[in-house]
Amino acid sequence: MTKFSYSSSAAWLERAKKVLAAGVSSEFRKYNHPHALFYTHGKGSKIYDVDGNEYLDFTLSQGPLILGHSHPEVLEAVHQESLQGQLYAGQHAKEIELAEKLQAIIPAAELMRFCLDGSEAVQTALRVARAKTGKQKFLRFEGHYHGWLDNVCFGISSPSPEAMGPRESPQMHPWTQGLPDGAKEESFLLPWNDLDLVKQHVAKHHQEMAAIITEPVMCNNGCIPPKEGFLQGLRALCSDYGIALIFDEVITGFRLGLGGAQAFFGVKPDMAVFAKAIGSGYPISAIVGKKEWMEEISTARVIHAGTMNTGNPTVAAALATISILERENPYPAMFALGERLRQGLRKIAKETGHQLLVSGIGPVVHTGFTSQEKAVDFRDVLQFDTTKLKTFVSRLHDRGLRVIGRGLWYISAVHTEEEIDQALGLAREVLTAQD
Ligand code: PLP
Repeated sequence: MTKFSYSSSAAWLERAKKVLAAGVSSEFRKYNHPHALFYTHGKGSKIYDVDGNEYLDFTLSQGPLILGHSHPEVLEAVHQESLQGQLYAGQHAKEIELAEKLQAIIPAAELMRFCLDGSEAVQTALRVARAKTGKQKFLRFEGHYHGWLDNVCFGISSPSPEAMGPRESPQMHPWTQGLPDGAKEESFLLPWNDLDLVKQHVAKHHQEMAAIITEPVMCNNGCIPPKEGFLQGLRALCSDYGIALIFDEVITGFRLGLGGAQAFFGVKPDMAVFAKAIGSGYPISAIVGKKEWMEEISTARVIHAGTMNTGNPTVAAALATISILERENPYPAMFALGERLRQGLRKIAKETGHQLLVSGIGPVVHTGFTSQEKAVDFRDVLQFDTTKLKTFVSRLHDRGLRVIGRGLWYISAVHTEEEIDQALGLAREVLTAQD
């Protein structure tokens, strides 16, 4: 049963392909159902496409829209600040206000710098780590996405689960062509959530290792929480060996709480990267860290720059976002909705005879078709049945429910219990009909 037509989007896509490579402005936008779609507007928990289709949106634009689409208070703040100016190539009071806010709510944010997106903030953190430690390489984990720039484009894809290679020395499959020869040499790669393996590796290679970078929850693949003691173990190792612990909080930031995963789990990294949700859809990110690390930037031993950093509208959007989140504290409700969705999906899967692993944490939910009862790392996630997932996600989409293609659902502050139940109703309809 296809409820929706996508013919107008198809026509726009043909036109777009003549001027935009593959018709899109970011690789991930190609993988919509049934092809890249074109949207007209978004409001609250809903988004609308050029065919007039309305979707209950659980993508939140890949995460940023923690307050839903077009929150009026954010729009008003952006409008008012834009009337003052857009960008000064100089400082303004509001960015100090924003930094003071973040310093108060994020444990490791003793000093910070703002940039535009997660990818460049990650690279800034790595540069600081190299400068302070005098070491060159960093350790990262399979399945963790840290942006699309050269040195983090390994270990996020694999031709097959078997092709991952031995756990102690994984294959570093490149995600893209065009990488410089040296890009691979910048990092060590290991499976996630295996502290013993990390310990062995660090003991052997610490003299070359400037940083360990991790998503504190592996949100990009399976939404897998850290094993008990894993983050604490990384913390201790980094302290013992003089290595920077970097949390990539691009997804967890403002989502597990205003203080991010570091506040949620009570583990303080040396540096952390925030992006997506802090700007409610406007381009702003932050590299935050302990003073002793961030001094590398203060003293200009490490250069961080950017013409477009802290434009008035982006800072206003971040300040408004924080003010709403502080005032309304939507976290208990968002966490409860996440749990309602997880439990509901599990029940439906059981009743309709599907082996659906429903995981996640707080307002992030993941659905994967597998007989495994638990997934702890990317190697487990690679065993999931992607054909079944594609059918599930596409059929939900054809019924007006939009989730991220890899099975990820984000819940915002404006989603309601009724909408979660509506989503569960649609999931039941799809799973009942699906093989
Ligand atoms: N780090 C994580 C954990 C991400 O999920 C992403 C993007 O999805 C990035 C970094 C890169 O951020 P951006 O797309 O803003 O460059």
